[in-house]
Amino acid sequence: MVKAIVGACWGDEGKGKITDMLAEKSDIIIRFQGGSNAGHTIINDYGKFALHLLPSGVFYNHTTSVIGNGVALNIPYLIKEIDELVSKGVPKPEILVSNRAQILMPYHILFDQYEEERLGKNSFGSTKSGIAPFYSDKYAKIGFQVSELFDDVLLEEKVRRICEQKNVLLEHMYHKPLLNPEELLATLKEYRDMVEPYVCDTVSYLHQAIKEGKNILLEGQLGSLKDPDFGIYPMVTSSSTLAAYGAIGAGIPPYEIKDIITVVKAYSSAVGAGEFVSEIFGEEADELRKRGGDGGEFGATTGRPRRMGWFDCVASRFGCKIQGATQVALTVIDVLGYLDEIKVCVGYEIDGKVTRDFPTTTELAKAKPVYETLPGWNCEIRGIQKYEDLPENCRKYVEFIEKEIETPITMVSNGPARHEIIYR
Ligand code: GDP
Repeated sequence: MVKAIVGACWGDEGKGKITDMLAEKSDIIIRFQGGSNAGHTIINDYGKFALHLLPSGVFYNHTTSVIGNGVALNIPYLIKEIDELVSKGVPKPEILVSNRAQILMPYHILFDQYEEERLGKNSFGSTKSGIAPFYSDKYAKIGFQVSELFDDVLLEEKVRRICEQKNVLLEHMYHKPLLNPEELLATLKEYRDMVEPYVCDTVSYLHQAIKEGKNILLEGQLGSLKDPDFGIYPMVTSSSTLAAYGAIGAGIPPYEIKDIITVVKAYSSAVGAGEFVSEIFGEEADELRKRGGDGGEFGATTGRPRRMGWFDCVASRFGCKIQGATQVALTVIDVLGYLDEIKVCVGYEIDGKVTRDFPTTTELAKAKPVYETLPGWNCEIRGIQKYEDLPENCRKYVEFIEKEIETPITMVSNGPARHEIIYR
């Protein structure tokens, strides 16, 4: 049985916590897209962790973590993340890296920085992890696949060819130091030695696991609104964030993904630039940011303060729809306990007309939020384990959202820790 855990909006919905939680009953957890550009914050018996490249299932002894072919594989980063876990007392996880994954090269990180620098105030707000240059190269067919590390002749020729091309840009467009092919080749040989113990044919492995009826989780990064096709293009990420892409980024049949658990946060937050209709500012935003998540809403990768906003029904409904959500985990609802009244964005006003459908970015830029105000519950709800025990106004808030997003909310998360979850 394959389940996907994905985000409905801009990311940071709390997928890490839900994955960590569901991993308890899973055999295999797979990362299928993105790279080390976003992070999951996880709190469990070993402490607090910010994972970027490893799947959130690495804390159990019984699970295997797979870095699928769709991932942007930063090899030194992967090794660093494994070492960090082990140094904090987590048993060394079982990790498999797809031989078809492509390698995030040191120059991808440089190009990401140089391009953001060149764009200046028009920059994308990239995390500068090299993700956009990585995927550009992959689809331009000048990427390095892990398997290629093991072919010396091919590697040497390709390194020379690619340095020549990159150096034209470095010299004439960015005016930056050039790449040295000998150095790059030596780096790739180091990468080979680092990654070799983990490399395997993950496609055969996963197909066999499916045959054996193993429980498999696909862990998405970011959310629907950062998808290059359906998100707030161009302020999106460079790989698909949708559950459907899980089939491609892991190499499994699409019809095997039976359950798409979409994580929705009880309010909105976003990092980086881009349209955000229900965004709030000033003191109102500061207060929510300070109380949000676990110890405040600050980026897990960059530490940047997140942009804050009220719950957006239009964006969340679209986000669930495009994921193909079968059920929703509503997270961080405990944070809203300080409010007397809670605003919820129920429509977008565009050119004087109100719509409930999430539009393309050009239309979105003109959208103004239409709010409805719901009563708050004004108390701490952490520690509550049964849905019936939640304050009435809190249940009403959950049920209002459920109706708006047109997907059953089966889990309500009322705290950051693994077991702070209410099943409905
Ligand atoms: P992800 O990228 O989707 O995994 O999300 P992040 O890890 O970036 O953000 C979620 C943040 O909220 C983390 O700090 C979590 O520890 C925290 N969190 C998750 N669920 C809850 C919850 O129900 N309540 C509270 N207060 N914090 C939560």
